[in-house]
This record gives sequence, C-alpha cells and structure tokens, in this order.
Amino acid sequence: MKPLNPTFAGAGTTIFTVMSSLANQHGAVNLGQGFPDTDGPLALRERAAQALIEGPNQYPPMMGVESLRQALAAHAKRFYDLNYDWRGEIVVTSGGTEALTASIMGLVKPGDEVVLIEPAYDSYRPIVEAVGGIPKPIRLAAPGWQLTEAALAAAFGPKTKAILLNSPMNPAGKVFLPDELKLLASFLTRFDALAICDEVYEHLTFDGIRHAPLATLPGMYERCVRVGSAGKIFSLTGWKVGWVEGPAALIGAVAKAHQFITFTTPTALQIAVAHGLNAAEDYYLTLAKELEGNRDYLARELAQIGFEPLPAQGTYFLTTDIRKLRFNGSDVDFCKHITEHARVAAIPLSVFFTGEAPQHLVRFAFCKQRSVLEEAVKRLATHFKRN
Ligand code: GLN
Repeated sequence: MKPLNPTFAGAGTTIFTVMSSLANQHGAVNLGQGFPDTDGPLALRERAAQALIEGPNQYPPMMGVESLRQALAAHAKRFYDLNYDWRGEIVVTSGGTEALTASIMGLVKPGDEVVLIEPAYDSYRPIVEAVGGIPKPIRLAAPGWQLTEAALAAAFGPKTKAILLNSPMNPAGKVFLPDELKLLASFLTRFDALAICDEVYEHLTFDGIRHAPLATLPGMYERCVRVGSAGKIFSLTGWKVGWVEGPAALIGAVAKAHQFITFTTPTALQIAVAHGLNAAEDYYLTLAKELEGNRDYLARELAQIGFEPLPAQGTYFLTTDIRKLRFNGSDVDFCKHITEHARVAAIPLSVFFTGEAPQHLVRFAFCKQRSVLEEAVKRLATHFKRN
C-alpha cells in the first residue's frame, strides 16, 4: 500500500480519549478529559427537543441558522463592543474543533509558517501540518506562562502567516494580560500576520479577570478570527456547536472550508444555542463563580497532599507541579499510575509540547460536582499517604 497521510496515520489517539478509557477501565474519578458532569440549562435542552419534534429538521443555511448568527453578533457587541455583521462575518461550525480546522484550512496555505504557543491544545499542530503549514512553536514556562518579546521575535519572520492564540488557555489556565496582547498585536502588524483566537473559555475566568479578545485592540479586528463554543459556555460539550467570527474577507475563506468539512451543524441545536445566548446569560456568569470555588477547593486540597498548584485564572483546568511527590517516572507515567492505583485520572502536560517537554506538570479538570472533587481528593490523599 502507498503511504497514507503521515500526519494522521502516524498520530496516536488523543490523550483525552486515552485517559478517559483508562479511567473507565479502572473505575477512576475522571479529572482528565475536560467535560462538566452536569448538563447545561434545561431551557436549552427543552428548546432543542422542541425543535427536534416540531422541526425544521432539514439542512440549515451553510453559514448557520440566522437566529444564532444574530444572537452571536449581539453577544460580541454586548460583551466586547465588537461589531460583526451576522450576514457575512459569522459562521457556525460543528464545535470549536471544526471552527479551528476551518480557520486553519481557510487561512493557511502550504509553506506558510504558523506560530503555536506551547503548551498548545492538541488539535492545532496536526491541522496546520495537514494543510502544508509549518508550525513554529513558542514555549512558555510555568508558573507564569509569560509571552515575551524574545520568544515572539524568535518565532516570527517574513513567512509567518498566523498565530494560534488560546486565551483563556488550555491546559495552562492562563488568561493573557493586556501587555502581552499589545506585544503580540505589534508583531502581527509588523509581520502582516493573522491571529486565530481560540476563545472557547471566554466566559470561564476567575478573580474578577475579564477576558479581552485580541480583536478589540487597535488594528486587530481586521487580523483576527475568534473561535467560540457553546459546549463550554453552556456545559453542553456533546452538542458540538461552535463558531468563527471575523472580518468578511477572512470569514469568507473560513466558510469555504467549512462548506466542505461539515457544511452545516444540527439545526435544533443551533436554535437552542441562539435561545441560550439571548436568554441564559446568568447561567454562564454563575458557572464561572462555581468553577472558581472548585478551583480554590481543589488547589487547597491538592496542596495538602503534596502537589504544587499553579495559578489558574480561567478554563476548567488546574495545572500542578508534581515534583515534591517524588514519583519515579514521567508525567505520563504519573497520570497512568494515579488512574490505576489512586483511581483518579489526570492529563500530563508533556503531550502539549513538541520535542523535549517538561515532565513534572499534571492537569486536573475541576468542572465537576463538588462531591466528585471530594471523592477524588480522598482517593489521592489515601494513595499518597500509603506511598
Ligand atoms: N478540550 C477538552 C480537554 O482539553 C477535551 C476535548 C476532547 O476530548 N477532544 O480536556
């Protein structure tokens, strides 16, 4: 047989699937893959159910159901004072994952360099490579994960087409600061480059920190596409309703990719998400508060056990330094070990880096009921006392 596409044929299964399977196998509390263990608002689920029964159930418009694109335009205006024309500047996709894929396929051509900020979400690199782009990693360092001028200067060059910016950032839990965004904006202008802004955790920020899209900075509207996900906003990760917002010239190209990837996204779910964006703002603002409490609880308890929690200003995730636990092995070994023996699953950070990666950082998801986090803490405390 002739060689298959090496980007995919040579790839392993994603760490999220690997760790969730291992967690199931061992009856572990799954703090690995990031998904809430309670479903989002009943009002949205009822609206989706009603739409399934009453229709429409045929293809919605390729760009997305009109009411959803209008609700997204209003949402971007309300929170960020961004003005996107729902007719040509917003495209609805099957989750943030497709939004990212369509953005990369639509904007990046073979030979273009694409800057990836590591630790980087795992879907970025393979899609950049699949379209013939050349990933240029920037490596941030714990605990502050600061984006520096030196790192940007080393990665940007005349062939730089785009950067992928994930803020709030998975797995680091970092929200990029205004100064870092300004610095990045200056590089985008200088090198005439674009930003694919993965903002799926836009509403999940803590300690009074507000997410600020890069697109709101002077001159950045024209250079940025913003990726969002109803899965994260409404705790409905299985719905896979996402979107991309940006200037018409960029969204036009992204939509051309989208039309050949999925073409559309289930109509009933789009109708329900439109309803949610218009009427269920309280849900996600309260969710951020709950998550903040969970972060504090988990950080405090893990610290008692010997983990060293890093700061987390957003997302579902808390990264911890495990060196004080004196485990003999890599972060991947550690995560497998605690899944099997403490029966709590987590995610090793090394998988989000290319090349030699730090081996002492482990991510726990805290988008879970408090009783579930308590059970996880109890199991880890028992395990590490015994060892
Ligand atoms: N984004 C989720 C996480 O980081 C997982 C999504 C997936 O499993 N593909 O845990």
